[in-house]
Amino acid sequence: MHFQTKNTMRIMNGAALARKIRSVLTIEIEFCKNKYGRSPKLSVILVGNDPASMTYVKSKGKACNEIGIESDLHFLPFSTSQDELLALIRQLNEDDSVDGILVQLPVPKHIDKNVILSAIDYHKDVDGLHPMNVGLLNTAGDCIIPCTPKGILSLLKSEGIEIAGKHAVVIGRSNLVGKPMAQLMLRENASVTVCHSKTRDLPYLTRQGEILIVAIGCPNLINADMIKPGAVVVDVGINSVDNKLVGDVYNSIDVSSIEKKAAAITPVPGGVGPMTIASLLENTFEIYKRRMKVAL
Ligand code: NAP
Repeated sequence: MHFQTKNTMRIMNGAALARKIRSVLTIEIEFCKNKYGRSPKLSVILVGNDPASMTYVKSKGKACNEIGIESDLHFLPFSTSQDELLALIRQLNEDDSVDGILVQLPVPKHIDKNVILSAIDYHKDVDGLHPMNVGLLNTAGDCIIPCTPKGILSLLKSEGIEIAGKHAVVIGRSNLVGKPMAQLMLRENASVTVCHSKTRDLPYLTRQGEILIVAIGCPNLINADMIKPGAVVVDVGINSVDNKLVGDVYNSIDVSSIEKKAAAITPVPGGVGPMTIASLLENTFEIYKRRMKVAL
């Protein structure tokens, strides 16, 4: 008899969920604009002209405008001093028409990222990177949750992935992705292992992950042998290989072996990326609602 291995790996479609989130937001924002006389507004600051950052900032502005959020993009020259940047942030903090403030990272080396992030009014800190929001997340307080981990959690929930009691392995410990992701998984009652560049036996740990979240920024580091059979894999990484966008896990080299191992995976592109933008829009609208004392 001939048995054929059936490929049952599910692709978790972040792009489709993000579209749904955006259409709900569009209706709610239109309602609020009519009722309260102003739209939500996001101010984005970019220092320098790094092409990737430029693309991210423009796509954030476009995503805002498509659903009725006003966007206010500040393109500052590379030579901008820390004091000049701080002065702009103070101005936006005090501007009542601005709900969310985002400084696109990385900032040039002559500017201290931590000083800048701490200068943003934490109530307007749409990226959830102000120390107050980081602290509140760690103490399970009411806070603004960083967009990428927030989007990943929404996607897992919408896919019906059970989290409580599972072993989640998170690779990466940045404030942007890894650490807040680990906190969110803990909040959902998963047991969590966090790995990083000094982790001794990465394959041993990744093979324990019933939910494996990979946020490194290195293509091909995670192969099929490192995945627990039946695991749910979230591929956060964004890498450019031969002018093609690939993740840390799901790329052309190992696709068929991974398909036989994982139960579900986020594609790159079309997985975590669109959910990050959708969460940015949600965070901006959340802040607007808090500031306008809207209850929907
Ligand atoms: P990051 O600040 O550079 O952090 C990378 C993490 O990976 C660090 O914690 C680092 O460990 C760890 N790492 C590096 N090499 C490793 C190795 N060989 N083994 C195990 N761990 C290793 O980057 P990030 O901001 O968290 O972003 C991670 C990736 O996600 C990037 O590709 C980024 O472009 C992508 N990203 C995607 C989205 C999206 O919307 N799809 C959003 C944000 C980020 P150490 O701490 O020890 O250095």
